[in-house]
Amino acid sequence: MLKILQKIMAVGTVTEAWDAGEAPERFRGRVAPAGGSCAACGACVAACPVGAIEADGDTVTVNQRACIFCGRCVERCERGLLTQTGDYKLAELGGQLLGEAVRAEIARTLGRSLHIRHLDVGSCNACDFELNQLLSPVYDLQQYGVDFVASPRHADLLMVTGVVTRNLTQALLMTYEATPSPRLVMAVGACAASGRTFGADNYAVRGGADALVPVDVYVPGCPPRPQALLYGILLALGRIEQA
Ligand code: SF4
Ligand code: SF4
Repeated sequence: MLKILQKIMAVGTVTEAWDAGEAPERFRGRVAPAGGSCAACGACVAACPVGAIEADGDTVTVNQRACIFCGRCVERCERGLLTQTGDYKLAELGGQLLGEAVRAEIARTLGRSLHIRHLDVGSCNACDFELNQLLSPVYDLQQYGVDFVASPRHADLLMVTGVVTRNLTQALLMTYEATPSPRLVMAVGACAASGRTFGADNYAVRGGADALVPVDVYVPGCPPRPQALLYGILLALGRIEQA
């Protein structure tokens, strides 16, 4: 017991503000144009494994919800017009949270106390590992009045990871129905946010979470960092503004 106390005293406080730590140097975040003149060669579009890039003449746009941050487009652009940044603040609001009145009501009722039910409907588990980290002493999710619960009946927010597989479609629909109103749905990772990672609407996959349930906040990434998840949660609760 004494040794444990000594260790606690020696280590001190490890919990940090959600955006205090820098992303690691090798972290791959938002793909952004670096400026310059596009040759409209289509190399980036052809290189993207998930169809996240669209080119209209010499204008290239990246669908951040679908991007898996693989960096292939950046490597293939011979003119170096695309760059991979360390920006992880990619969450965006959708569904009912696009309405000012509902957003204000959600902030009032759930802003200081939110309970989350996580549901994996077909992920590779990397997203799930990242959201497990929210409960570590570093990110300490409970410091925000937010926690995970076992039952959807006790939850305010349904956190969905993975593409919606046909085998888990019913689980998603039943869990959504079991969550009392007002309820929020968060699509975590490129799979749930876009449904394109493993092909859409095929023999195994129905698509992203919003193919079956209304999604109120999208958190892109493959997987998203814990900080990106916290950004999405706090954004949904109206505790921070969109970066
Ligand atoms: S980083 Fe990969 S997934 Fe994202 S737009 Fe580029 S090629 Fe597509
Ligand atoms: S978004 Fe990426 S990390 Fe998350 S479940 Fe899909 S493939 Fe895995």
